[in-house]
Amino acid sequence: MAIATESPDERKATSESTAADKKRWTLNDFDIGKPLGRGKFGHVYLAREKRVSTAKSNHIVALKVLFKTQLKQSQVEHQLRREVEIQSHLRHPNILRLYGYFYDQKRVYLILEYAAKGELYKELQRCMYFSERRAATYVASLARALIYCHGKHVIHRDIKPENLLVGAQGELKIADFGWSVHTFNRRKTLCGTLDYLPPEMVESVEHDANVDIWSLGVLCYEFLYGVPPFEAKEHSDTYKRIVQVDLKFPAKPIVSSAAKDLISQMLVKDSSQRLPLHKLLEHPWIVQYADPSGVYRG
Ligand code: ATP
Ligand code: MG
Repeated sequence: MAIATESPDERKATSESTAADKKRWTLNDFDIGKPLGRGKFGHVYLAREKRVSTAKSNHIVALKVLFKTQLKQSQVEHQLRREVEIQSHLRHPNILRLYGYFYDQKRVYLILEYAAKGELYKELQRCMYFSERRAATYVASLARALIYCHGKHVIHRDIKPENLLVGAQGELKIADFGWSVHTFNRRKTLCGTLDYLPPEMVESVEHDANVDIWSLGVLCYEFLYGVPPFEAKEHSDTYKRIVQVDLKFPAKPIVSSAAKDLISQMLVKDSSQRLPLHKLLEHPWIVQYADPSGVYRG
């Protein structure tokens, strides 16, 4: 693995960047604070960068600590590497920043943007379901984040409430790029050059990205109804309902027909027929309900 060099100051450090900014990170660079949560392979802690170079920022981050033995046992080193490579290159207000990483003999540490308001999943459980204003604001911000990702040939492929965190201002942050792919890389490994690819393969980039539209449709439904659309007792029944696009809108809670129309346009079997994300942003439901500031403030 190449050593990540970005500091949390990286946005400010341009021409002023010094050799010290590019040094390797170690655990000694951080004061470790309270635990924020537990993941499959380790823990996440609030942390503060000791090296303060600007008065403006307090350098608060979330430090995700992963145990190498567990990563190896589950054979997810490759996935982690991809996650780090992809996420560290993304810069968007609705995507959790990954500032860098370092490791020691036993652990790998990811330096992440701190999402002060925690998991969206818990918020949804607490509220049961969200208002249309809140749901539309979230869906619009996720659409903008995904447009940005797709523009960089990155497909997330795992958009769900568990992977969404909430920042201090109430803004959504897409986290967990463990299942994401960089389509350009895949094309390159496939053929080296685009010149000999048939149309369906050239188009498959666009095509693949449409999986995120489907997931966003599922998420929109879940925001409004509190349950995902194809839920069933048995795994095999959920599978059937998805394949058949067995989409039903319960009578309660009451949801506007504009919202149902939008969901119906996203949950379309033929991926090429799903409502493109830039069109989603112009949909009457989004225009009417999404907060123009992009942030839901309650
Ligand atoms: P799993 O796959 O089981 O969800 P994981 O390895 O993906 O685990 P995370 O979900 O990233 O681990 O982290 C575990 C918990 O730590 C999260 O559910 C969340 O509550 C908290 N957490 C993680 N990252 C941050 C962050 N950047 N800011 C605030 N809290 C965080
Ligand atoms: Mg997680």
